[in-house]
Amino acid sequence: MIFIFLIALFILAVVLLFAYQKIYNPGKLCKTCYRVVPHLAPKCPFCDSELNWDD
Ligand SMILES: [Zn+2]
Repeated sequence: MIFIFLIALFILAVVLLFAYQKIYNPGKLCKTCYRVVPHLAPKCPFCDSELNWDD
């Protein structure tokens, strides 16, 4: 019975990790220089390439 509890705890931890990344994701990766760009920035501040936030 403790085994089922541990599996449930593990699944909960994974779900929480994904939820955390979804909520606190600081932005997205630039496709040109692969650095994290602030959320909804029109251009990459590192390499000045255009960013598409639709995908
Ligand atoms: Zn860039």
